[in-house]
Amino acid sequence: MAHPATPLPRNGLLVFQRLKRRHCAECRTGPLQMLVLEDGAPRCLDCADLGHLVFLPRGDTALTRRAREESALSAVVVRFNRRKSRYERQGVLVEEAGLARAEERCLADAEARRRRRMRDARRRAQEDVRFVEAFAAEIRRLFPGCPADRAREIAMHASVRGSGRVGRSAAGRALSEVAVTSAIMASVRHVETPYDQLLMSGVPRHEARRRITAAVETTLRGWRTGVSEVG
Ligand SMILES: [Zn+2]
Repeated sequence: MAHPATPLPRNGLLVFQRLKRRHCAECRTGPLQMLVLEDGAPRCLDCADLGHLVFLPRGDTALTRRAREESALSAVVVRFNRRKSRYERQGVLVEEAGLARAEERCLADAEARRRRRMRDARRRAQEDVRFVEAFAAEIRRLFPGCPADRAREIAMHASVRGSGRVGRSAAGRALSEVAVTSAIMASVRHVETPYDQLLMSGVPRHEARRRITAAVETTLRGWRTGVSEVG
């Protein structure tokens, strides 16, 4: 049954999934789904003293490794692939209690990963809050005339995670004056000028921007020099 030219997995016991209809050389049961070769003769798992093991199909590397670690007795199950002319691992036979312990360890890992993800999400949320506050403070420092709630709104809008907007860029992270100013300009454009109406009425974007440039600059100048207004 074992192809002489084909290397077999070397570590541990080997169990073969059936290729031909074979019966146990000892107890004659069969045809056998899985068999062990002893001196070239097929034995059923019971006669090979492996009948108490359970089959764990391949696919979950961590579970397989741990199930073998947790089992005093285990075997590798292989099947001959005729097309590729080699034996391929199908899974392992392990002790049921060992498999249960391995599953518990993997579940504990999954639970630990879940808790870590939650901690990460909480930390990112805190970072977001801190970032918005810092951004708003920088807006108010550069533009003292900008109303406080407006500064906060701009900072929140600019820092929406994953939006690719200015607040998330490296420059925004660094709270550079350019980044803060461009976030403010974007907001002023939409709120303090007829930019959106121009776009809606079909004015090309560059032309719309050109028409509102003066209005944006007036507002920015006022905010830059103005005293703090009540938001
Ligand atoms: Zn047998």
